[in-house]
Amino acid sequence: MATFPERYDALVIGGGFYGSAIAVYLAAQRGFKRILLVEREPALMLRASYNNQARVHNGYHYPRSYTTAYRSRVNLPRFVRDWPGAVRQDFTKLYAIARHNSKVTARQFERFCRDIGAPVQPAPAHLSALFEQRLIEQVFAVQEYAFDSRRLAEWALRELDHFAVQVHYRTRATAIERAEGGLRVHLARDSGGSDSVACRYVFNCSYSGTNQLGGDFPGVSIALKQEITEMALMAMPPALERLGITVMDGPFFSMMPFPSRGLHTLSHVRFTPHLHWQDERGTDPYRRLQEYQQPSRMDRMVRDVGRYIPAVLEARHVDSLYEVKTVLQSTEDNDGRPILFERHATLPGCYSVLGGKIDNIYDVLEKLDDEVL
Ligand SMILES: Cc1cc2nc3c(=O)[nH]c(=O)nc-3n(C[C@H](O)[C@H](O)[C@H](O)COP(=O)(O)OP(=O)(O)OC[C@H]3O[C@@H](n4cnc5c(N)ncnc54)[C@H](O)[C@@H]3O)c2cc1C
Repeated sequence: MATFPERYDALVIGGGFYGSAIAVYLAAQRGFKRILLVEREPALMLRASYNNQARVHNGYHYPRSYTTAYRSRVNLPRFVRDWPGAVRQDFTKLYAIARHNSKVTARQFERFCRDIGAPVQPAPAHLSALFEQRLIEQVFAVQEYAFDSRRLAEWALRELDHFAVQVHYRTRATAIERAEGGLRVHLARDSGGSDSVACRYVFNCSYSGTNQLGGDFPGVSIALKQEITEMALMAMPPALERLGITVMDGPFFSMMPFPSRGLHTLSHVRFTPHLHWQDERGTDPYRRLQEYQQPSRMDRMVRDVGRYIPAVLEARHVDSLYEVKTVLQSTEDNDGRPILFERHATLPGCYSVLGGKIDNIYDVLEKLDDEVL
């Protein structure tokens, strides 16, 4: 059992990209000396920060949410600047507009790209030829990148070590309580032990686990939706190897390079979400995922995608990534990805943060800059 100092300046719950980046920010930018990060898994970034589509968004994905599109445009160049080693740019990204059931037409998509200042041009003929012309109105070549979450995790390990942030794995925060001069966080270890630590601030960066804390923790005030998702990991045939493709805007699909495995992810709006529920305390999303049987739907994904891009029928399914995706219920209609940043008024010093997508880290850090800590 580790012994803890009297009191920490800050305790960060969750060693995903957000918890790691916030711990580094607190040390590097705010001069916090004693920071503890607790992570329930045996390593950093094993959950949503790994099991995702690895897209560094550049706005294209959000024709129905101008704010998210615009913020993506602002944040992508910063992400590329700050994590150059984790960003892959050596592929061509195509956005194709479906002829039927799309919520935007090709003209509208093009105009939207120009409105947000995102580069867009008709795809070269040899790439457009990959698509079934009966089903696709137009194909555009755009500028969008992929991130390598293993590289992000390496960065986090280096920086946390550099700033002497203590990291405890296989350790779960279970409750937060008001305490003399700050907060007290209760911890449970996989090994069976439990403990509690005093701290001035708590940053709850536990994503799917955001509301699963007891004690005086009030939960977040915005409704969250939990979704068990499957993304198929595919070895693409040569014709598709150097491409990322998204078909818009409705019940379609995306395929993106997945740098940390050297494969492609394939997600489909109809088949990737297996089941969903409104988040509530007491329904542990991680347990729900563990207990879920996880029957793959990759064959249905491939069959539908193959109607639009026949070459995909030659792809080989290697694996599937299952994860709980947590989104704000309020974004259901427009598919936007705003951040959740909540300072809990009834639990002074406690913050909950949910990033929505990886480049939103800058929106979170801007919020933190405004906080008097
Ligand atoms: C299927 C899917 C596709 C996605 N595609 C993209 C994409 O293409 N581009 C993009 O930018 N974003 C994408 N996202 C969103 C992106 O993955 C998340 O916004 C981001 O990873 C969230 O980071 P995080 O640190 O908040 O969460 P996580 O990485 O999940 O980190 C939270 C950590 O907290 C830990 N934890 C939870 N509860 C506790 C507790 N009580 N005590 C201790 N530890 C705890 C968990 O084990 C976890 O490691 C996608 C997400 C999913 C699920």
